[in-house]
Amino acid sequence: LQLVRTMHSLIKNQAYVDGKWTDSREKKTFDVINPANLKIIGNVPDMDVKDVEKAIDAAYDAFHSQEWQNKTAKDRSNLLKKWFTLLEANKAEIAEIMTSESGKPLAESFGEITYGNSFIEWFAEEARRIYGEVVPSPVASKSITHTKHPIGVAGLITPWNFPHAMITRKAGAALAAGCTVVIKPAEDTPLTALALCKLADEVGFPPGVINVITSSRSNAAPIGELLCKSPKVAGISFTGSTEVGKLLYRQCADGVKRIGLELGGNAPFIVFKSANIDHAVAGALASKFRNCGQTCISANRFLIQDDVCEEFIGKLINQMKCLSIGDGACSCTKIGPLINEAQLKKVKGMVEDAKQKGAKIVHGGRHMKDIGELFFEPTIITDIKPDMKLYTDEVFGPIVSIIPFKSEEQALKIANGTQRGLAGYFFTQDLNQAFRVRNKLEVGMVGINEGLISSTEAAFGGIKESGVGREGSSHGIEEYVYIKYSCFGNL
Ligand code: ADP
Repeated sequence: LQLVRTMHSLIKNQAYVDGKWTDSREKKTFDVINPANLKIIGNVPDMDVKDVEKAIDAAYDAFHSQEWQNKTAKDRSNLLKKWFTLLEANKAEIAEIMTSESGKPLAESFGEITYGNSFIEWFAEEARRIYGEVVPSPVASKSITHTKHPIGVAGLITPWNFPHAMITRKAGAALAAGCTVVIKPAEDTPLTALALCKLADEVGFPPGVINVITSSRSNAAPIGELLCKSPKVAGISFTGSTEVGKLLYRQCADGVKRIGLELGGNAPFIVFKSANIDHAVAGALASKFRNCGQTCISANRFLIQDDVCEEFIGKLINQMKCLSIGDGACSCTKIGPLINEAQLKKVKGMVEDAKQKGAKIVHGGRHMKDIGELFFEPTIITDIKPDMKLYTDEVFGPIVSIIPFKSEEQALKIANGTQRGLAGYFFTQDLNQAFRVRNKLEVGMVGINEGLISSTEAAFGGIKESGVGREGSSHGIEEYVYIKYSCFGNL
């Protein structure tokens, strides 16, 4: 896929601070790579903490300026609606940019953009419903109210696997609440972020309300620390690895800062013998192979009841044979490359570890160098045991790890035997079992006879070490507001 810069192009090679397109102070840049062919498709500023200080100052001043504070909810809503309209009108170009830097198939890029845009639409609507409360007072001479107020500047740090939606899910809520934002997209996928920002620029948000700063991996840690520790930043929202999430959580402790974390999962995908196996296979395909398995809610451990294990695997193999692998820019591609060398090494290492410890590959298993350096074949591995990395860790790749089980109790014990608790899936036609297992699964989100669960209207988030807070839905705004209790006395 060749990115062509035209006059009205959304391809930007500058960051965006205080309403202006800008380079890094030292004019440093880093390359953006197409993972399908390792070609350089662009370069963007490699900003450092000094550059980011400017962005924080701009966001802080914009928050405190009369212009933004005094906007009505309806005015903010209207700006968000305009942004949504522009995002919708420019889907095709955003999809090309996204596919070229993330490797995801074009159809999936369109899917993500529809999903990502819907957060801007949703929060444009929610902006007007940030209600307070009048609370009955125990004393006749007093009146009690609760009103909701924006927390201030929000630092948003996002990952590469959803280069658009992870930004809009955070920024939509923050802007609707009346916050200003400093967005740091992942170093692998800054071009999608800048394309969204180009359209926000056209909308005419006041300068400083939206800032996008780009940096290479080596500057990410000091920038993250600055965002967490700056007294001008009121809250952080992060989607990414558990390791970095924990670090940010610690860094936010000193300033007792608001933090929302969407971290890694280890989703169980349980197929009970009562399940409709065709539905389970369709759910497995949808949950496992979206974005080549690189989503935090991807099914990670397939727990299949003994009685139906053979049937499930047979039917899944038949479907997997139809998954065409290649450059996401080709319309027939269903499986693109992994995002980068580190991710490929991790997936290969986990498969190798399982093989050495006695697991059996029943489908796939190849590093497909003939297609490109970062392609790995969709794979099914059976005989997965607790001492294998595929059993304990999040794979983030197109690997189906099969763990057979005998009883519901045993399945739940395995499913819950992890410190992660993001998503879980199970398939059953037994109504009582559906309720029982739903109640006992230790996750923040559960798909029952369903493999695709993300939706703007629903609360996204995890328990245990998978995160803090919820995004999307009517709850998403709560991350960006605080409640002010007012006591009116001597009435
Ligand atoms: P992944 O391993 O999937 O790349 P990360 O958690 O490393 O996930 O990255 C998610 C986001 O966090 C990216 O924007 C990345 O640049 C950023 N990041 C990485 N390390 C740090 C850090 N130490 N502090 C703040 N942000 C970081």
